Amino acid sequence: MTPDLDVLIVGAGVAGLYQIYQTKKMGLRVKCLETAPKIGGTWYWNRYPGARFDSESWTYGYSFSKDLLEEWDWTEDFAPQTETEKYLNFVADKFDLKSSIEFNTQVSSAKYNEEHDFWEIRSTDGKCFTSRFFVPAVGILSAAVMPNIPGVETYKGISYHTHKWPQKDVDLSGKKVGIIGTGATAVQIIPEISKVVDHLTVFQRTPNWCTPLHNKKISPERMREIKGNYDEILELCRQTPGCYIHSTDPRAALEVSERERLEFWEKLYGEPGFGIWQGNFKDVLTDRKANALMSDFLAGKIRERVKDPVVAERLIPKCHGFGTRRVPQESGYYEAFNKDNVELVDINEDPLKEINENGVRTENNQFDFDILIYATGFDAITGAFERIHIEGLEGKLLKDLWSDGPVTYLGVLVKDFPNMFICMGPHSGLGNYTRTAEYSVEWVSELIEYAIQEDKKKVETTDEGMDEWTDHVLSLGVGLLANEVGSWMTGVNRNLETKQKPKIMRYSGGHPAYREFCDKVKAEGYRNVVFNP
Ligand code: NAP
Repeated sequence: MTPDLDVLIVGAGVAGLYQIYQTKKMGLRVKCLETAPKIGGTWYWNRYPGARFDSESWTYGYSFSKDLLEEWDWTEDFAPQTETEKYLNFVADKFDLKSSIEFNTQVSSAKYNEEHDFWEIRSTDGKCFTSRFFVPAVGILSAAVMPNIPGVETYKGISYHTHKWPQKDVDLSGKKVGIIGTGATAVQIIPEISKVVDHLTVFQRTPNWCTPLHNKKISPERMREIKGNYDEILELCRQTPGCYIHSTDPRAALEVSERERLEFWEKLYGEPGFGIWQGNFKDVLTDRKANALMSDFLAGKIRERVKDPVVAERLIPKCHGFGTRRVPQESGYYEAFNKDNVELVDINEDPLKEINENGVRTENNQFDFDILIYATGFDAITGAFERIHIEGLEGKLLKDLWSDGPVTYLGVLVKDFPNMFICMGPHSGLGNYTRTAEYSVEWVSELIEYAIQEDKKKVETTDEGMDEWTDHVLSLGVGLLANEVGSWMTGVNRNLETKQKPKIMRYSGGHPAYREFCDKVKAEGYRNVVFNP
């Protein structure tokens, strides 16, 4: 029995779109299933006010087409969601990718058919697709989570999770609004909506170390200059650990004088983007003392920027150091708390008891709202994979295999799940998303091409492969302070019973090393990959 398709991709976001492009280029029969009615993934769903990049726009675009680089003009260093969504549509139209996508189709299960050696992929509306290869490109921050606060379902006002922000404009002017959460999403939305709402109450459980984005417009002249420098920019991104333009400073914070240290931190604080996180002294993310000094520096900045000293203290993280959780990049976040219409409720001081029909009840207060916003994040990294019933050989479930933490080979292959190639999942080389996704898609596409050319029906990894890679990833993660802290980066979600303990979820050897490893595997005839086992 022949399957309907050669390659079935799940997800039409940044990675999935490029996977369609590569698969079409090989002349294969491809289909992409997408839950949303439109393309974009993250950049379709997260359309809340203030949503924008925090990697430089001109490092985020696809690099596979010189024409595309030449044709697209970014208008801001950190483009808003609307521009990114437009960009992805421009790409999809230019390369005719939409005709391969089945929209409004949510995948519920994927099962490997051992008799016929193909995947059977089913959607919630009862369709079934058969495909030789199965490429889940479902994203690491796409499975939104609601808070496990009693009574969420009883609220009678309007409520939105930031990830499911409506397509239509939401009129927040003059409204009493509550927001739960203070992660990167909330840090973008709070200053933006504080400009229009009548009153905003922010419920904070854990403050984060936020640093200034310093976004600015790109003039046509500067865009021309950027276009002229794309080769250098992209090469620089290839060389840095996270594929940003920023790379770790070779000096240690503890080795330089206090004056030199503070001057450097002032400089980083005044510069745009992730330099302060990705381009800091080499010991800031690994040495407790260096990290504490950096955190003290930022605490000083918060105290300078927030007028009320009590509010400032609430906004200073006490239980984790700078950069050990994902650093939110802000545009006037701290100043928002100087406004008369913005109130910060620290739920450690006044515990959140329930959500009721009018709003939120804490131990000491009742807060009534017109609109309640849940900026409560995601079941990150593995969540979107686990929400699909993925069944490999002999009824084995991916969710069970990963219950104690992910195990993969290169973050791409999983034993007993033949011909499933994960694109941008746990233990893969993550970083500046498009930069790293392009590599993953190309590696997967070459493997597919090889299997087809060599007429290998079944491609799988081995126990040795999974052990080698998992041990390698875990050992690289030792000593990184971030791996000791509970956050989405360590797979922790306090709303989910099974996601309470930090685990090493991300490859932390830097993308150049990841590429070197994967290139070598390929050069060695796909070491630890077995064909037709
Ligand atoms: P997040 O960082 O996980 O933050 C979720 C927030 O909700 C946290 O403050 C969390 O508190 C709070 N929360 C969750 N459940 C709660 C509950 N039951 N009671 C009270 N508070 C609760 O999620 P996010 O802000 O959506 O960001 C996730 C990631 O998406 C970011 O780190 C970033 O990588 C990405 N992102 C990127 C951009 C961009 O590129 N520009 C923008 C936004 C987001 P605790 O911390 O105490 O759990």
